[in-house]
Amino acid sequence: METTAEQRVTMDEITALAKRRGFIFQSSEIYGGIGGFYDYGPLGSILKRNVKNAWWRDTVELRDDVVGFDSSIIMHPLTWRASGHEAQFHDRMVDCKICKHRFRVDHLKNTEQCPDCGSKDSLTEPRNFNLMMSTHLGPMEDSASAAYLRPETAQGIFVNFKNVFQTARKKPPFGIAQIGKSFRNEITPGNFTFRVREFEQAELEYFVPDDGNDMTCFNDWVERRKAWYASYGVKRDRLRFYELTPQERPHYAKAGIDVEYLFPWGWGELESIAHRGTYDLDAHMKLSGKDLRFFDEASKAHYTPILIESSAGMDRTTLTMLIDAYEKETVTDAGGKQSERTVLHFHPYIAPVQVGVFALARNKPELVERARAIEAALRPTFRTQYDEGNIGQLYRRQDEIGTPFCVVFDYDSLEDAKVTVRNRDTMIQERVAVDALASYLRERIA
Ligand code: ATP
Repeated sequence: METTAEQRVTMDEITALAKRRGFIFQSSEIYGGIGGFYDYGPLGSILKRNVKNAWWRDTVELRDDVVGFDSSIIMHPLTWRASGHEAQFHDRMVDCKICKHRFRVDHLKNTEQCPDCGSKDSLTEPRNFNLMMSTHLGPMEDSASAAYLRPETAQGIFVNFKNVFQTARKKPPFGIAQIGKSFRNEITPGNFTFRVREFEQAELEYFVPDDGNDMTCFNDWVERRKAWYASYGVKRDRLRFYELTPQERPHYAKAGIDVEYLFPWGWGELESIAHRGTYDLDAHMKLSGKDLRFFDEASKAHYTPILIESSAGMDRTTLTMLIDAYEKETVTDAGGKQSERTVLHFHPYIAPVQVGVFALARNKPELVERARAIEAALRPTFRTQYDEGNIGQLYRRQDEIGTPFCVVFDYDSLEDAKVTVRNRDTMIQERVAVDALASYLRERIA
Protein backbone atom coordinates (compact mmCIF):
# COMPACT_ATOMS: atom_id res chain seq x y z
CA MET A 1 0.00 0.00 0.00
CA GLU A 2 1.14 3.53 -0.78
CA THR A 3 2.29 5.38 2.33
CA THR A 4 1.51 9.07 2.27
CA ALA A 5 4.23 11.40 3.47
CA GLU A 6 1.57 12.89 5.76
CA GLN A 7 1.77 9.83 7.99
CA ARG A 8 5.46 10.54 8.61
CA VAL A 9 5.70 14.30 8.58
CA THR A 10 3.49 17.34 8.12
CA MET A 11 4.38 20.52 6.27
CA ASP A 12 4.03 22.38 9.57
CA GLU A 13 6.80 20.21 11.04
CA ILE A 14 9.00 20.83 8.00
CA THR A 15 8.49 24.61 7.95
CA ALA A 16 9.04 24.81 11.71
CA LEU A 17 12.27 22.81 11.49
CA ALA A 18 13.42 24.81 8.46
CA LYS A 19 13.00 28.04 10.38
CA ARG A 20 14.28 26.80 13.77
CA ARG A 21 17.51 25.44 12.34
CA GLY A 22 18.17 28.09 9.71
CA PHE A 23 17.32 26.24 6.51
CA ILE A 24 14.58 28.42 5.01
CA PHE A 25 12.96 31.69 6.07
CA GLN A 26 10.04 33.60 4.66
CA SER A 27 11.38 36.45 2.53
CA SER A 28 11.16 39.97 4.06
CA GLU A 29 9.69 38.48 7.22
CA ILE A 30 10.08 41.67 9.28
CA TYR A 31 7.67 43.38 6.86
CA GLY A 32 5.12 40.59 7.02
CA GLY A 33 6.62 38.47 4.24
CA ILE A 34 5.87 38.48 0.52
CA GLY A 35 3.88 35.70 -1.15
CA GLY A 36 5.90 33.21 -3.17
CA PHE A 37 9.40 34.21 -2.08
CA TYR A 38 11.75 32.52 0.39
CA ASP A 39 15.29 32.98 1.67
CA TYR A 40 17.76 30.18 2.36
CA GLY A 41 19.54 30.47 5.71
CA PRO A 42 23.06 29.38 6.67
CA LEU A 43 22.24 25.67 6.45
CA GLY A 44 19.64 25.88 3.67
CA SER A 45 21.95 27.77 1.35
CA ILE A 46 24.56 25.01 1.71
CA LEU A 47 21.96 22.28 1.30
CA LYS A 48 20.63 23.83 -1.90
CA ARG A 49 24.15 24.42 -3.22
CA ASN A 50 24.97 20.77 -2.53
CA VAL A 51 21.85 19.62 -4.39
CA LYS A 52 22.80 21.82 -7.36
CA ASN A 53 26.39 20.57 -7.26
CA ALA A 54 25.15 16.97 -7.21
CA TRP A 55 23.07 17.66 -10.33
CA TRP A 56 25.92 19.51 -12.04
CA ARG A 57 28.44 16.81 -11.19
CA ASP A 58 26.28 14.06 -12.68
CA THR A 59 24.96 16.01 -15.66
CA VAL A 60 28.06 17.95 -16.71
CA GLU A 61 31.28 16.98 -14.96
CA LEU A 62 30.98 13.22 -15.24
CA ARG A 63 30.18 13.38 -18.97
CA ASP A 64 32.32 14.32 -21.91
CA ASP A 65 29.30 15.18 -24.06
CA VAL A 66 27.71 17.93 -21.97
CA VAL A 67 29.00 21.49 -21.56
CA GLY A 68 28.01 24.11 -19.00
CA PHE A 69 26.32 27.42 -19.65
CA ASP A 70 25.12 30.52 -17.79
CA SER A 71 22.85 32.93 -19.64
CA SER A 72 21.31 36.24 -18.58
CA ILE A 73 17.94 36.39 -16.84
CA ILE A 74 16.65 39.18 -19.08
CA MET A 75 16.77 38.39 -22.77
CA HIS A 76 15.60 40.11 -25.94
CA PRO A 77 11.78 40.23 -25.71
CA LEU A 78 11.48 38.52 -29.10
CA THR A 79 12.88 35.38 -27.44
CA TRP A 80 9.54 34.98 -25.67
CA ARG A 81 7.56 35.58 -28.83
CA ALA A 82 9.47 32.85 -30.65
CA SER A 83 9.26 30.41 -27.75
CA GLY A 84 5.48 30.83 -27.52
CA HIS A 85 5.59 32.17 -23.94
CA GLU A 86 4.14 35.56 -24.91
CA ALA A 87 1.04 34.04 -26.45
CA GLN A 88 0.63 30.84 -24.49
CA PHE A 89 2.41 30.85 -21.15
CA HIS A 90 -0.67 31.38 -19.08
CA ASP A 91 -2.81 29.68 -16.51
CA ARG A 92 -6.60 29.84 -16.51
CA MET A 93 -7.72 31.88 -13.54
CA VAL A 94 -11.00 32.62 -11.74
CA ASP A 95 -11.88 35.11 -9.00
CA CYS A 96 -14.39 34.67 -6.22
CA LYS A 97 -16.79 37.61 -6.37
CA ILE A 98 -17.47 37.34 -2.64
CA CYS A 99 -14.08 36.88 -0.94
CA LYS A 100 -12.06 38.23 -3.89
CA HIS A 101 -9.59 35.33 -3.74
CA ARG A 102 -8.06 34.10 -6.97
CA PHE A 103 -7.60 30.48 -8.06
CA ARG A 104 -6.09 28.42 -10.86
CA VAL A 105 -8.90 26.59 -12.59
CA ASP A 106 -6.89 23.38 -12.90
CA HIS A 107 -6.35 23.38 -9.11
CA LEU A 108 -10.08 23.56 -8.31
CA LYS A 109 -11.89 20.38 -7.34
CA ASN A 110 -15.28 22.04 -7.83
CA THR A 111 -15.77 25.02 -10.14
CA GLU A 112 -19.23 25.75 -8.70
CA GLN A 113 -18.03 26.67 -5.24
CA CYS A 114 -15.27 28.90 -3.81
CA PRO A 115 -12.79 26.69 -1.90
CA ASP A 116 -11.94 29.52 0.53
CA CYS A 117 -15.27 31.11 1.56
CA GLY A 118 -17.55 28.28 0.40
CA SER A 119 -19.87 30.60 -1.59
CA LYS A 120 -21.85 28.90 -4.35
CA ASP A 121 -21.70 30.14 -7.96
CA SER A 122 -19.43 33.03 -6.94
CA LEU A 123 -16.55 32.24 -9.29
CA THR A 124 -16.03 34.37 -12.41
CA GLU A 125 -15.64 32.94 -15.90
CA PRO A 126 -12.07 31.63 -16.39
CA ARG A 127 -9.66 33.96 -18.12
CA ASN A 128 -6.05 33.72 -19.19
CA PHE A 129 -3.32 35.06 -16.96
CA ASN A 130 0.22 35.30 -18.36
CA LEU A 131 2.77 34.07 -15.84
CA MET A 132 5.77 36.01 -17.11
CA MET A 133 7.00 38.83 -14.87
CA SER A 134 7.71 42.04 -16.68
CA THR A 135 10.04 44.93 -16.03
CA HIS A 136 11.33 48.00 -17.90
CA LEU A 137 14.85 48.66 -19.07
CA GLY A 138 16.32 52.15 -18.85
CA PRO A 139 14.57 55.35 -17.78
CA MET A 140 11.42 55.13 -19.96
CA GLU A 141 8.52 52.95 -18.87
CA ASP A 142 6.96 52.49 -22.29
CA SER A 143 6.25 49.49 -24.44
CA ALA A 144 9.61 49.84 -26.21
CA SER A 145 11.47 49.36 -22.92
CA ALA A 146 9.38 46.41 -21.69
CA ALA A 147 11.22 43.17 -20.95
CA TYR A 148 10.55 39.94 -19.11
CA LEU A 149 12.32 38.08 -16.36
CA ARG A 150 12.85 34.63 -17.84
CA PRO A 151 10.23 32.03 -16.86
CA GLU A 152 12.69 29.21 -17.72
CA THR A 153 16.43 29.01 -18.34
CA ALA A 154 16.20 26.86 -21.48
CA GLN A 155 15.68 29.67 -23.99
CA GLY A 156 19.12 31.12 -23.19
CA ILE A 157 20.57 27.84 -24.39
CA PHE A 158 18.52 27.69 -27.59
CA VAL A 159 19.40 31.20 -28.77
CA ASN A 160 23.08 30.44 -28.10
CA PHE A 161 23.03 27.00 -29.66
CA LYS A 162 25.34 27.96 -32.53
CA ASN A 163 27.74 29.96 -30.35
CA VAL A 164 28.11 26.94 -28.10
CA PHE A 165 28.57 24.13 -30.59
CA GLN A 166 31.05 26.19 -32.59
CA THR A 167 33.19 27.26 -29.63
CA ALA A 168 32.96 23.99 -27.70
CA ARG A 169 33.60 22.04 -30.93
CA LYS A 170 30.74 19.64 -30.19
CA LYS A 171 28.47 17.82 -32.55
CA PRO A 172 25.18 16.07 -31.80
CA PRO A 173 24.67 14.03 -29.71
CA PHE A 174 25.79 16.55 -27.11
CA GLY A 175 24.17 18.60 -24.37
CA ILE A 176 24.21 22.08 -22.85
CA ALA A 177 23.33 22.47 -19.17
CA GLN A 178 22.63 25.40 -16.92
CA ILE A 179 21.35 26.16 -13.46
CA GLY A 180 19.76 29.52 -12.81
CA LYS A 181 16.92 31.61 -11.51
CA SER A 182 13.54 31.68 -13.19
CA PHE A 183 10.50 33.78 -12.36
CA ARG A 184 6.79 33.07 -12.72
CA ASN A 185 3.96 35.20 -11.46
CA GLU A 186 2.15 32.18 -10.01
CA ILE A 187 -1.52 32.88 -9.25
CA THR A 188 -1.47 30.82 -6.08
CA PRO A 189 2.01 30.23 -4.71
CA GLY A 190 1.97 27.73 -1.88
CA ASN A 191 3.13 24.55 -0.19
CA PHE A 192 6.20 26.31 1.18
CA THR A 193 8.98 26.37 -1.46
CA PHE A 194 7.14 24.01 -3.80
CA ARG A 195 5.36 26.72 -5.77
CA VAL A 196 7.14 30.04 -5.59
CA ARG A 197 7.52 33.06 -7.86
CA GLU A 198 11.32 33.06 -7.92
CA PHE A 199 13.05 29.71 -8.17
CA GLU A 200 16.04 27.91 -9.59
CA GLN A 201 15.93 25.44 -12.42
CA ALA A 202 18.56 22.96 -13.54
CA GLU A 203 18.04 22.34 -17.23
CA LEU A 204 19.75 20.04 -19.64
CA GLU A 205 19.15 20.46 -23.37
CA TYR A 206 20.53 17.41 -25.16
CA PHE A 207 20.69 17.65 -28.96
CA VAL A 208 20.66 14.47 -31.02
CA PRO A 209 20.82 13.75 -34.75
CA ASP A 210 17.71 12.44 -36.46
CA ASP A 211 19.19 8.96 -36.92
CA GLY A 212 16.50 6.84 -35.29
CA ASN A 213 18.18 6.74 -31.86
CA ASP A 214 16.26 9.64 -30.35
CA MET A 215 13.91 7.53 -28.21
CA THR A 216 16.84 5.43 -26.92
CA CYS A 217 18.52 8.64 -25.91
CA PHE A 218 15.33 9.90 -24.21
CA ASN A 219 15.04 6.63 -22.27
CA ASP A 220 18.73 6.77 -21.30
CA TRP A 221 18.23 10.19 -19.72
CA VAL A 222 15.16 8.96 -17.84
CA GLU A 223 17.25 6.08 -16.44
CA ARG A 224 20.08 8.42 -15.56
CA ARG A 225 17.75 10.72 -13.65
CA LYS A 226 16.20 7.71 -11.86
CA ALA A 227 19.66 6.62 -10.79
CA TRP A 228 20.49 10.15 -9.63
CA TYR A 229 17.52 10.37 -7.25
CA ALA A 230 18.25 6.85 -5.98
CA SER A 231 21.93 7.59 -5.38
CA TYR A 232 21.03 10.49 -3.08
CA GLY A 233 18.71 8.25 -1.12
CA VAL A 234 15.25 9.50 -2.23
CA LYS A 235 12.95 6.62 -1.27
CA ARG A 236 11.83 4.61 -4.24
CA ASP A 237 8.20 4.32 -3.12
CA ARG A 238 7.89 8.08 -2.75
CA LEU A 239 9.07 8.79 -6.29
CA ARG A 240 7.30 8.03 -9.54
CA PHE A 241 8.02 8.59 -13.20
CA TYR A 242 4.67 9.44 -14.73
CA GLU A 243 4.41 8.97 -18.48
CA LEU A 244 2.40 11.75 -20.12
CA THR A 245 -0.32 10.72 -22.56
CA PRO A 246 -0.33 12.29 -26.05
CA GLN A 247 -3.21 14.56 -24.87
CA GLU A 248 -1.14 15.77 -21.91
CA ARG A 249 1.98 16.66 -23.89
CA PRO A 250 2.47 19.58 -26.28
CA HIS A 251 1.61 18.69 -29.89
CA TYR A 252 5.28 18.70 -30.98
CA ALA A 253 6.51 16.46 -28.14
CA LYS A 254 7.04 12.81 -28.95
CA ALA A 255 7.40 11.67 -25.33
CA GLY A 256 7.24 13.16 -21.84
CA ILE A 257 7.83 11.99 -18.30
CA ASP A 258 7.02 13.91 -15.13
CA VAL A 259 9.16 12.97 -12.16
CA GLU A 260 6.91 13.26 -9.11
CA TYR A 261 7.46 13.01 -5.37
CA LEU A 262 4.88 12.04 -2.76
CA PHE A 263 4.70 15.23 -0.69
CA PRO A 264 2.61 15.50 2.50
CA TRP A 265 -0.25 16.94 0.35
CA GLY A 266 0.10 14.35 -2.44
CA TRP A 267 2.11 13.85 -5.62
CA GLY A 268 3.93 16.92 -6.97
CA GLU A 269 6.19 17.45 -9.98
CA LEU A 270 9.94 17.76 -9.42
CA GLU A 271 11.14 17.55 -12.97
CA SER A 272 9.94 17.09 -16.49
CA ILE A 273 11.82 15.11 -19.12
CA ALA A 274 10.64 15.70 -22.67
CA HIS A 275 11.34 14.79 -26.27
CA ARG A 276 10.69 18.18 -27.92
CA GLY A 277 11.53 17.36 -31.52
CA THR A 278 13.00 20.35 -33.39
CA TYR A 279 10.32 22.75 -32.13
CA ASP A 280 12.50 25.18 -30.16
CA LEU A 281 15.34 25.68 -32.63
CA ASP A 282 12.85 25.89 -35.52
CA ALA A 283 10.91 28.62 -33.73
CA HIS A 284 14.02 30.76 -33.16
CA MET A 285 15.26 30.25 -36.71
CA LYS A 286 11.90 31.35 -38.05
CA LEU A 287 11.63 34.57 -36.05
CA SER A 288 15.31 35.61 -36.01
CA GLY A 289 15.99 34.60 -39.61
CA LYS A 290 19.31 33.11 -38.41
CA ASP A 291 20.42 29.63 -39.35
CA LEU A 292 20.95 27.57 -36.18
CA ARG A 293 21.26 24.26 -38.00
CA PHE A 294 24.20 21.97 -37.60
CA PHE A 295 26.38 21.21 -40.61
CA ASP A 296 27.28 17.55 -40.85
CA GLU A 297 30.68 17.13 -42.48
CA ALA A 298 30.06 13.50 -43.38
CA SER A 299 26.85 14.02 -45.34
CA LYS A 300 27.67 17.66 -46.27
CA ALA A 301 24.16 18.60 -45.24
CA HIS A 302 22.58 20.98 -42.71
CA TYR A 303 20.08 19.60 -40.23
CA THR A 304 18.18 20.71 -37.12
CA PRO A 305 18.93 18.38 -34.21
CA ILE A 306 16.19 16.82 -32.09
CA LEU A 307 15.99 17.99 -28.50
CA ILE A 308 15.74 15.88 -25.35
CA GLU A 309 15.15 18.12 -22.32
CA SER A 310 15.38 17.49 -18.60
CA SER A 311 14.15 20.39 -16.49
CA ALA A 312 14.34 20.03 -12.71
CA GLY A 313 13.39 22.53 -10.02
CA MET A 314 16.19 22.94 -7.49
CA ASP A 315 13.95 24.43 -4.80
CA ARG A 316 11.51 21.56 -5.14
CA THR A 317 14.38 19.05 -5.10
CA THR A 318 15.88 20.67 -2.00
CA LEU A 319 12.46 20.55 -0.30
CA THR A 320 12.19 16.89 -1.31
CA MET A 321 15.56 16.13 0.26
CA LEU A 322 14.39 17.77 3.52
CA ILE A 323 11.06 15.93 3.61
CA ASP A 324 12.46 12.60 2.48
CA ALA A 325 15.28 12.71 5.05
CA TYR A 326 12.96 13.60 7.93
CA GLU A 327 12.24 11.07 10.64
CA LYS A 328 10.87 11.21 14.15
CA GLU A 329 12.10 8.31 16.27
CA THR A 330 11.64 7.09 19.79
CA VAL A 331 15.02 6.16 21.26
CA THR A 332 15.81 4.30 24.45
CA ASP A 333 18.98 5.17 26.36
CA ALA A 334 21.23 2.78 28.33
CA GLY A 335 19.11 3.34 31.46
CA GLY A 336 15.92 2.36 29.60
CA LYS A 337 14.65 5.96 29.41
CA GLN A 338 12.71 6.76 26.25
CA SER A 339 12.86 10.02 24.38
CA GLU A 340 12.01 11.33 20.95
CA ARG A 341 14.58 12.49 18.42
CA THR A 342 14.09 14.24 15.11
CA VAL A 343 16.68 13.26 12.56
CA LEU A 344 17.40 14.20 8.97
CA HIS A 345 19.00 11.25 7.21
CA PHE A 346 20.73 13.35 4.54
CA HIS A 347 23.12 11.64 2.15
CA PRO A 348 26.61 12.71 3.35
CA TYR A 349 27.29 14.49 0.03
CA ILE A 350 24.38 16.87 0.49
CA ALA A 351 24.39 17.21 4.30
CA PRO A 352 25.19 20.87 5.12
CA VAL A 353 27.48 19.76 7.96
CA GLN A 354 29.30 16.46 7.53
CA VAL A 355 31.24 16.29 10.80
CA GLY A 356 30.41 17.95 14.11
CA VAL A 357 33.40 18.17 16.46
CA PHE A 358 32.80 18.78 20.16
CA ALA A 359 34.75 19.32 23.35
CA LEU A 360 33.10 17.49 26.26
CA ALA A 361 33.28 20.56 28.53
CA ARG A 362 33.45 24.20 27.53
CA ASN A 363 35.35 25.27 30.68
CA LYS A 364 38.29 22.89 30.20
CA PRO A 365 40.87 24.63 28.00
CA GLU A 366 42.83 21.41 27.40
CA LEU A 367 39.73 19.77 25.85
CA VAL A 368 38.58 22.87 23.96
CA GLU A 369 42.00 23.48 22.44
CA ARG A 370 42.43 19.89 21.22
CA ALA A 371 38.87 19.61 19.88
CA ARG A 372 39.25 22.91 18.01
CA ALA A 373 42.54 21.72 16.53
CA ILE A 374 40.88 18.52 15.29
CA GLU A 375 38.04 20.50 13.71
CA ALA A 376 40.51 22.85 12.01
CA ALA A 377 42.47 19.89 10.63
CA LEU A 378 39.32 18.29 9.19
CA ARG A 379 37.91 21.54 7.73
CA PRO A 380 39.75 21.50 4.37
CA THR A 381 38.36 18.01 3.65
CA PHE A 382 34.87 18.03 5.19
CA ARG A 383 32.13 20.54 6.01
CA THR A 384 32.68 20.76 9.76
CA GLN A 385 31.20 22.56 12.74
CA TYR A 386 32.77 23.03 16.16
CA ASP A 387 30.68 23.13 19.33
CA GLU A 388 31.03 22.46 23.05
CA GLY A 389 28.83 21.70 26.04
CA ASN A 390 26.22 19.08 26.86
CA ILE A 391 26.93 16.21 24.49
CA GLY A 392 23.37 14.84 24.54
CA GLN A 393 22.01 18.21 23.43
CA LEU A 394 24.72 18.64 20.80
CA TYR A 395 23.89 15.22 19.33
CA ARG A 396 20.19 16.12 19.15
CA ARG A 397 20.97 19.38 17.42
CA GLN A 398 23.25 17.72 14.87
CA ASP A 399 20.65 14.97 14.27
CA GLU A 400 18.12 17.67 13.48
CA ILE A 401 20.36 19.30 10.91
CA GLY A 402 21.36 15.94 9.43
CA THR A 403 25.06 15.73 10.34
CA PRO A 404 26.20 12.16 9.56
CA PHE A 405 29.10 12.01 12.08
CA CYS A 406 29.91 13.63 15.41
CA VAL A 407 33.33 13.52 17.03
CA VAL A 408 33.81 14.07 20.78
CA PHE A 409 37.09 14.91 22.48
CA ASP A 410 36.81 13.88 26.13
CA TYR A 411 39.02 13.29 29.19
CA ASP A 412 40.04 9.82 27.98
CA SER A 413 41.19 11.40 24.71
CA LEU A 414 43.92 13.22 26.64
CA GLU A 415 45.24 9.80 27.71
CA ASP A 416 44.68 7.51 24.72
CA ALA A 417 44.70 9.99 21.77
CA LYS A 418 41.35 8.58 20.63
CA VAL A 419 38.02 10.31 20.08
CA THR A 420 34.43 9.05 20.15
CA VAL A 421 32.82 9.01 16.72
CA ARG A 422 29.04 8.74 16.71
CA ASN A 423 27.05 7.66 13.67
CA ARG A 424 23.85 9.70 13.14
CA ASP A 425 21.74 6.86 11.75
CA THR A 426 22.78 3.92 13.95
CA MET A 427 23.77 6.07 16.95
CA ILE A 428 26.64 3.59 17.42
CA GLN A 429 29.74 5.13 18.97
CA GLU A 430 33.29 4.01 18.21
CA ARG A 431 36.66 5.02 19.59
CA VAL A 432 38.92 6.09 16.73
CA ALA A 433 42.57 7.17 16.95
CA VAL A 434 42.95 10.88 16.22
CA ASP A 435 45.64 10.00 13.64
CA ALA A 436 43.23 7.74 11.77
CA LEU A 437 40.18 10.02 12.05
CA ALA A 438 40.37 11.69 8.63
CA SER A 439 40.68 8.40 6.76
CA TYR A 440 37.91 6.83 8.92
CA LEU A 441 35.56 9.68 7.95
CA ARG A 442 36.67 9.79 4.31
CA GLU A 443 35.83 6.10 3.90
CA ARG A 444 32.31 6.69 5.19
CA ILE A 445 31.56 10.06 3.62
CA ALA A 446 33.19 9.89 0.19
P1 ATP B 1 3.66 23.08 -12.49
O1 ATP B 1 2.74 22.26 -13.32
O2 ATP B 1 3.91 22.53 -11.11
O3 ATP B 1 3.31 24.54 -12.48
P2 ATP B 1 5.35 23.14 -14.77
O4 ATP B 1 4.93 21.89 -15.47
O5 ATP B 1 4.84 24.44 -15.25
O6 ATP B 1 5.10 23.00 -13.19
P3 ATP B 1 7.94 23.20 -15.96
O7 ATP B 1 7.61 24.36 -16.82
O8 ATP B 1 8.00 21.85 -16.59
O9 ATP B 1 6.93 23.18 -14.72
O10 ATP B 1 9.28 23.54 -15.18
C1 ATP B 1 10.27 22.57 -14.88
C2 ATP B 1 10.49 22.47 -13.39
O11 ATP B 1 10.69 23.76 -12.81
C3 ATP B 1 9.30 21.90 -12.63
O12 ATP B 1 9.30 20.50 -12.68
C4 ATP B 1 9.56 22.41 -11.23
O13 ATP B 1 10.48 21.58 -10.53
C5 ATP B 1 10.21 23.75 -11.47
N1 ATP B 1 9.18 24.79 -11.28
C6 ATP B 1 8.28 25.24 -12.18
N2 ATP B 1 7.49 26.18 -11.66
C7 ATP B 1 7.90 26.34 -10.37
C8 ATP B 1 7.50 27.18 -9.29
N3 ATP B 1 6.52 28.07 -9.43
N4 ATP B 1 8.14 27.07 -8.11
C9 ATP B 1 9.16 26.20 -7.94
N5 ATP B 1 9.59 25.38 -8.93
C10 ATP B 1 8.98 25.45 -10.13
